[in-house]
Amino acid sequence: MSQERRYSFEFFPTKTEAGHEKLMTVARQLASYKPDFFSCTYGAGGSTRDRTLNTVLQLDGEVGVSTAPHLSCVGDSKAELRELLSTYQSNGIKRIVALRGDLPSGMGMASGELRYANELVEFIRSETGDHFHIEVAAYPEMHPQARSFEDDIANFVRKAKAGADSAITQYFFNADCYFYFVERVQKLGVDIPVVPGIMPITNYSKLARFSDACGAEIPRWVRKQLEAYGDDTDSIQAYGEQVITEMCERLLQGGAPGLHFYSMNQAEPSLAIWNNLKLPR
Ligand code: FAD
Repeated sequence: MSQERRYSFEFFPTKTEAGHEKLMTVARQLASYKPDFFSCTYGAGGSTRDRTLNTVLQLDGEVGVSTAPHLSCVGDSKAELRELLSTYQSNGIKRIVALRGDLPSGMGMASGELRYANELVEFIRSETGDHFHIEVAAYPEMHPQARSFEDDIANFVRKAKAGADSAITQYFFNADCYFYFVERVQKLGVDIPVVPGIMPITNYSKLARFSDACGAEIPRWVRKQLEAYGDDTDSIQAYGEQVITEMCERLLQGGAPGLHFYSMNQAEPSLAIWNNLKLPR
């Protein structure tokens, strides 16, 4: 296995003190596996501005794993983005995940000055030069609002050309769509690493809801099997672990430059896959 592969875990900032304590316990457990970095999501429109900032600084400083804040541009002004970037920079944060974001329903129309993630990447570069390693989002199954697959590929190329260093994909359950996406962007001259985002399967109804919203397709054969388990969560988790482990094996064998786990603030589901794959610690 290539030494250059990178492994990372994503968290979301919690609303309660108890949730935050649990998150820190999970993060310490995951830190013992020596991932390359953690990342922490950001509520578009700034709804988690302080919580994301505090969580990132604590994960980076106290837990001791280099942590990348997500930053989205819809609903935030340039002044707000500039201030956050400067705070992260002065606290030694070196990596950032640059997104457009989705405003939660009820927050009205996007009011930010930057409309798309490529504009945010340009903004970060113009404000902070090469300080940050910039990650962007990639959609092997196409972003749900894109007019076409071709348009979405063109958008990804724009983000890379604006200065992104690497990308993390939306989760998917079909390795072929990942390989096809990477091949397509490489043919267009983009060779930044595109790291698969991995969603462990733990709960079928939540996963189905999530997947509908973000445009990730659950293949029929997986869906049917998960449905057949009904409320039997142990079987859902065991089957999910097997399906995801096998997909990750294929991805890594096919040259994926690492894996990014959507931990959902839990340790066991991601670590089960990590251990099955015998990833380095
Ligand atoms: P963009 O790359 O800007 O693309 C958005 C859409 O606009 C696409 O359909 C694209 O094809 C289209 N588009 C782009 N440019 C143009 C143009 N000039 N004209 C017309 N159409 C255009 N959301 C959050 O709110 N917070 C998070 O922390 C967060 N973390 C994420 C992490 C990862 C790894 C991923 C994959 C997603 C994450 N998201 C997060 C979700 C993301 O914000 C949404 O998917 C959002 O809808 C798109 O963000 P983007 O950065 O991909 O947008």
